[in-house]
Amino acid sequence: MTNNDKNTNAEKEPPASTPKSAKKKRKLYTVTFFHNWCKSCGLCSAFCIKKIILKDETGRPYIEDMDSCTGCRFCEIHCPDFAITIKNRHPVRRSTDDNG
Ligand code: SF4
Ligand code: SF4
Repeated sequence: MTNNDKNTNAEKEPPASTPKSAKKKRKLYTVTFFHNWCKSCGLCSAFCIKKIILKDETGRPYIEDMDSCTGCRFCEIHCPDFAITIKNRHPVRRSTDDNG
């Protein structure tokens, strides 16, 4: 074995360390109801794929677990009164976190 052979392994770069947040961050969404426009028809609740839109005693919709919202926008699309909007939550903070 020559000196060159011995040095081959030493020159190899060490394996990159696993980043702190290796698991992919799930996107979060904020669901907002415009109650002035809402007629409490219940369609949003019926169409929510996660069943997180509940109705209070007057029939007005509210979100039980916002973090479970997938952002599918089914509720927004089916609301006949345009009384729901879905937005990404903390888009700036999330992109900053991803950069370290
Ligand atoms: S679908 Fe629209 S109008 Fe009907 S309960 Fe939901 S927010 Fe209100
Ligand atoms: S965007 Fe989808 S998951 Fe979120 S509240 Fe509306 S229907 Fe439910």
